[in-house]
This record gives sequence, C-alpha cells and structure tokens, in this order.
Amino acid sequence: MVGYREELVRNVVYINMKTSRKNSDVGVPFGLSRSTGKLYEPRAVPLGKICDCICPACKEPLYSKHCHGEKVTPHFMHAAGANCKHGYETAIHLAAKQLIEERKILALPSLFAHVQFGSSLYDRIVRSTSIVSEGVRNLNNVTLEKSIGDFRPDLIVTIADIGEVLVEIAVTHLVTSSKLEKIVRRQLPVLEIDLSKMRNITFNELENALFVDISNSSWIFHPSVAGEQEKLRELLLPLIEEAKQESSRQKIIEDKKKREKRIADQQRFAAEYFPGKWNQTIPGYESSQRAATFKNRSDDGKLLAVTKWLKIQSIPESVKIHIPGVICFGCVDQNIWQLALFSGLIHRQINVGMKTISVDSALNWLRQRFNFDAKSSENERMAVQIYLDGLLERGALVRANVDFFNIAVLSLESFELLHKFKLGHISLNADLQWVDESSWPEKSVSILLAVPHSLNATREWELLSNLRPSCNERTPKETCSWFERISGNAISENAVASYLIGAGFLIEKLAN
Ligand SMILES: [Zn+2]
Repeated sequence: MVGYREELVRNVVYINMKTSRKNSDVGVPFGLSRSTGKLYEPRAVPLGKICDCICPACKEPLYSKHCHGEKVTPHFMHAAGANCKHGYETAIHLAAKQLIEERKILALPSLFAHVQFGSSLYDRIVRSTSIVSEGVRNLNNVTLEKSIGDFRPDLIVTIADIGEVLVEIAVTHLVTSSKLEKIVRRQLPVLEIDLSKMRNITFNELENALFVDISNSSWIFHPSVAGEQEKLRELLLPLIEEAKQESSRQKIIEDKKKREKRIADQQRFAAEYFPGKWNQTIPGYESSQRAATFKNRSDDGKLLAVTKWLKIQSIPESVKIHIPGVICFGCVDQNIWQLALFSGLIHRQINVGMKTISVDSALNWLRQRFNFDAKSSENERMAVQIYLDGLLERGALVRANVDFFNIAVLSLESFELLHKFKLGHISLNADLQWVDESSWPEKSVSILLAVPHSLNATREWELLSNLRPSCNERTPKETCSWFERISGNAISENAVASYLIGAGFLIEKLAN
C-alpha cells in the first residue's frame, strides 16, 4: 500500500499548467445565471451585458461573447478592471459538478490490484485482480461540496456495487499529497477527473470527459487494493518460491558452464603454447600428482615401480635402444627412462584411445617424471628422437608425419613378440597361435591399430581388423597367406602377421 501511495504522490506533482488563465483577462467559459442559479454557455444567454450572468468565483457581472465568425470559443468576460483570479477554474468546476448532478451518471475507469515480483522480462511474475470494472455507472446519490472531517471533496457519489466514492475534479492542479494523506486516512475510494488538458471548454466537451472518455479519470485511492494485493501475494508465494529455486538452479548451471569454459580455455591455451604437453596435463591433477610422486623416487625406485606396473622381472631387450655418450633425464641407466616412456605412452595406450606419440609429448612426459636439466635439453630432445626412431624401426611405431608417430602395438608383450618375429627369432608357422577367445582383441582397438599397418590397402585391413575368434579354424600361417592372396600380393604374409601380432591376435605358442 505504501508503494501505491508513493506512486500517487509522485503523479500528483506535475500539474500547474493553466496559470496564465487565472487572470481576469482570460475568458470565463460558463456564467452563473442570476435568475436560475445555474451555469450557462455564452450562446445560451443574450449577447453582452444583458445576459444577466455573474462570475461563479467573484460574483461580479459578466458579459457574454458569442464569437460568431471568430476562431475563439464563445466565453464570458468580466468588466474592465476586474481583478478575478479564479473565474475560469471555478466555472469549469461548477459546470462539471452541475452535469454530474443533473445526469447522475459517471464513466469509471477500471481498477486492478496487482503484485509483481522480479524485474526482468523473463523472471517477472505479475498477478492482478479486478476491483472496479470499466464502464458508465448510475449514481444513486450525488452530494456536492460536503466536508468529511478535515477535507472537502468536490463530490460524494454513491454507486451500487462500490458504495460511496469521493470525486475530485482537477482543473488547474491535481490532488495534493497532503490531501491524499487525508483521503487515505478516511479509507474511501477516490476518483480523480483531470480536466486540465481540455482545449475547448463547452458542456459537450465536458460531458464527453465525464461520461464517455475514461482517459481523463483515474482511481487515486481505493481501500480494497491493499487487501487484494495481500491475497495475491499469498497466492503467489508457492510460485515465487519455485521461481527463486529455478533461478538458483539456473545460476548453478551457469556457474558450471562458466567453470567448464574457463577450463576449456586453459586447455586450449596449454595445447597451443605447450604442444604435446596436453596429453599429460588434461587428465588432470591426479596424474600430475602421480608424476610428482614418481619423480621423487630414486632410479632404482623408478625401475621397480615400472616393472611392477608392467608385471615383468627385468627390462626387455625390445625396449632397450642404445644412445651413445649421453646421460639424459638424470638417469645413469638410460634403459630406465626408456622403459618408463614405453610403459607410460605406448603400452596399452591404444586401449584408452591414444593413437599417437610425438617427440614433444614424450619430452614433456619425461620431464614431469625425471630430473630435467635445462642445459641438456637439446641432448634430451635428440635422445627422445633417437629412441622413437628406434621403436619405429622395431615396429612399435609407424610414422604419421614429421612430428607424430602412430602407435602400432597393443602392449609391451605384443611389441616384444613382434620384435622377436622381425628379428627372425620366431616363425609364423611354428611358434605362434591364436590368442584365447577370452582375450580376443576389442574390435575398436584392432581397428585403431590397423591404421598404422594399413598403408594403402584399406579394404583388406578392414577385413583383418574384423577377424572373429572363430578364424582359429585356420592356422595363423594359413590366414596370413590367405590375406596376401586376396590383397593381390599388396600385403605380404609378413605384414599381415606383424599386424596380427601387434594387435594381440597372435601370441607365442605355449610350451607343452
Ligand atoms: Zn470572477
């Protein structure tokens, strides 16, 4: 209710617009007949002095001016030298009251109690209740200029469905804030009819403003509004609670999005400025923690940790590549960092979708886990380059482009077997068998591994990667020969065997 009043008081301030017409040289629109006591328009009475009308304000005689053929609205004038300040305003006031009293009707604007929560277009909740409906109403009773306690409204009217209504006619100024306070104290509905903007003051125009056009009228107070607003607030409480919850839900989602975007930006930045490093940093904090723990170990401790993880007793020959004359990554035994690198970036990496390795990614990975001396960084880069080239030669990697190698083996075991096969230490015919059905390679993994092996003969490699466990009806040798044939000798028997070993389809024959 306080808000309602404040709004009204603000609106009350603006008008004092007809000040110039207060003076006696301005015409009076209606004259008060001495004989009937009623107001008349100038042309309803004889022209000039004999009109027998007086000013409704100062009660001095008026002259009627019919103004035929002029652009001026007919009006009354005081005698020269009269000093009347309120003739214009009082005439309109009285005329309006006279019309309402005669016709006993009034056009009412609608009135709603409304409540609003939220300010933006999207979270705003508005509800309203009709208190007065718009339309012309009959007045059961009209009382003029009757004081109610400490103030006197222009009219008091009684309307069937509303009861007593105070009517204020505003001509030169609207209801003041002090009057409004008095009205509110009385708790009676107040309708204000604002006639200050009227141009031609005639009975016709006044009737239009009072009985037809509701745009001049407004409810400046109604005692039911506050109560209705309270009811609406109570009705809205669950909705408001829901809206609040929804809004906090939205905030959580937005915060999450912002957080994710920030992380993505950081990762993009890292990928851009520290190429290769992202492989190891993106899985996050946990892996960098593990790397730090590993870094703190002694060489022996590192070797122990890696062999334990790989479930091996010693370093296999296949991963040892001799790099003469250099001590890298703080390791006197270069096989330690080499085994670590193989276990960390190649062994079973294809299972988690890691298809490539680069000199940069290998360097960064090693620097997170081994002592790094900036002075020997060129040597270390060279060493890693040599090591990866060595693995390339042994079949663990296939060059993808200048910087990247495709991983071509499933695991350390498959690489060891492949290495032995390439050295001629084992034969396809005598020493290899199909892996047990329970260990058959995952299709997605065998397809990934087919890529580095395939070169150009794509269709045949697709067939190969789709091998089913049931193919063990053929021996490995028969299968390899068969693929060599169907590829039109594009893929050698040995190349097929290399793939089948690298992808884990073939294992070393178990000793009987
Ligand atoms: Zn006067």
